[in-house]
Amino acid sequence: MEKKCVWEKYSKKDLEKLEKICKKYRKFLSDCKTERECVAEIVRQAEEAGYRNLQDVIRKEEKLKAGDKVYAVCMKKAVAMFNIGKRPLEEGMNILGAHIDSPRLDIKQNPLYEDGDLSYLDTHYYGGIKKYQWVTLPLAIHGVVVKKNGEVVNICVGEKKDDPVFCVSDLLIHLAGEQMEKKAAKVVEGENLDILIGSVPLKDEEKEAVKKNILQILKKEYEIEEDDFISAELEVVPAGEARELGFDRSMIMAYGQDDRVCAYTSLYSMLEVKEPDKTSCCLLVDKEEIGSVGATGMQSHFFEDMVAELFDRVGEYSGIKLRRCLKNSRMLSSDVNAGFDPLYASAFEKKNASYCGHGVVFSKFTGSRGKSGSNDANAEYLAVLRKIMDDNKVNYQTAELGKVDIGGGGTIAYILSLYGMEVIDCGVAVLSMHAPWEVTSKADVYEAQKCYAAFLKDA
Ligand code: MN
Ligand code: MN
Repeated sequence: MEKKCVWEKYSKKDLEKLEKICKKYRKFLSDCKTERECVAEIVRQAEEAGYRNLQDVIRKEEKLKAGDKVYAVCMKKAVAMFNIGKRPLEEGMNILGAHIDSPRLDIKQNPLYEDGDLSYLDTHYYGGIKKYQWVTLPLAIHGVVVKKNGEVVNICVGEKKDDPVFCVSDLLIHLAGEQMEKKAAKVVEGENLDILIGSVPLKDEEKEAVKKNILQILKKEYEIEEDDFISAELEVVPAGEARELGFDRSMIMAYGQDDRVCAYTSLYSMLEVKEPDKTSCCLLVDKEEIGSVGATGMQSHFFEDMVAELFDRVGEYSGIKLRRCLKNSRMLSSDVNAGFDPLYASAFEKKNASYCGHGVVFSKFTGSRGKSGSNDANAEYLAVLRKIMDDNKVNYQTAELGKVDIGGGGTIAYILSLYGMEVIDCGVAVLSMHAPWEVTSKADVYEAQKCYAAFLKDA
C-alpha cells in the first residue's frame, strides 16, 4: 500500500505538460480572486472553446444535440457547463464539481469610519479563518458597487504594481504582553479586522476630515457615495500574484487555492473534452465555505433546474427522465485535502494522510468524529474509479482529513448524493489550508487534471 512521490516518474514530456498547466493555473489564481471574477473568466474561456449561453439557446427556442456545448450562470457567482454526449441524457452524466468561493474579509454595509486621524473600512470575515493570520499583510479590495440606478461599478485595487494596498494593523510586540497571553482564537478579534485606508484630512474640515477626504477620492475615482456601500459586495483578499515556491520551483503559493485548484483543473479538463459518450458536466459553485447555502450555493435548485432546461432543449423533457438522469450520474466532488505537514505531524494519521506530490487525493468520506456530516462513497464506485485511474496512468492516493477525533470538514458531495448518484470526494493536498497564502504541489495540480480528464472520458 506504499504510495510514492510522483516526481521521479515523470518524463520530459510530462514535465512540459505540468509546467504548461501550472503556468495557466497561476494566471487564473492571480486574475480571479472572487467568485464573480472566476465566473467571468470561466465564461470567457468556455465561449472561446465554443460553449454557448443556455439562456440564449432557450430564448431562440433552438434544440440541442450530441456535440453541442452550453453553459449556464447563476447570479454571476456559480456556473454549470454541459458537453452533450452521444448517449441519452437519461443514462446519466459525468459531473465534475468544485467551489469557487474562498475565505476572505467582506466589507460591511456601513463600513467607513475615522479614528485617531486614520480612516478604516470595517469588515466581517467569510468562511473559517485563523484571524491572526490576516494582520500586517498587503491586502486588495475586489468587488462591485451597485448604484441605485442599477449601474455596476467594478472595483479592483491593490493588484497592479503601482496600486496602493490596504492592511489590518497589529499591536506592537513591545506592548503585547497581555495580548500574547490570550488564546489564538482571541489574539485578534473579528471586530478588529478593519482595514486601514487613509490618513490625510480634507482641508478646512473640522469633523472626520480624513474620512471626508476618502469619500472625495471615492467620488472622483469611482463616482460612488458613502450610501453606495449599502448595495456593494466588496471582498478583501491578499494582494499580489500566485508564485512558484521553493528553489526547485515545485510548488505554488497563492491565495484561494481552496478550492480554485480543483475548479481550475476541472474547467481545464472540461474544455478539453471532445465528443463525449456520456454528457460531461462541470459545476462550479459559490458559498461552500459557509455551508453551501443560498441561491448560488450547492443546496440551491440551480443545477437541477439547468439539467431540466437541458432536457427541454434536447427535446425530451419529463420529470421522471430528469430524476433518472441525476440518479444515473457519477460525480467527482472536488475539494482540497489537508496535506501532511511534518511541522504538525501529530494532527495526522500517517497511513491515511495525503502527501504533497503524491498525486490526486480520493477521500471515501469526509465529516468529523464518527463521519458526521459526510457522504460515504460506495466501495463499488471506488473500484470503478481505481480502474479508470490505473487505465489512464493517473497517480492517486487516498486520505482522510487528519486524525479521527481531531477535527474534520465537509464538502458539496453529500448534497449531490441525495439524488442517488455515485459521488466521491476527490482533490488536491494543500498546506496551510484557509491561510491567506496556501501551498500546493505542481505535480498534484497536474495529476488532478489528468484524473478529471480520465473521469470525463471513461466513467
Ligand atoms: Mn474547499
Ligand atoms: Mn475550505
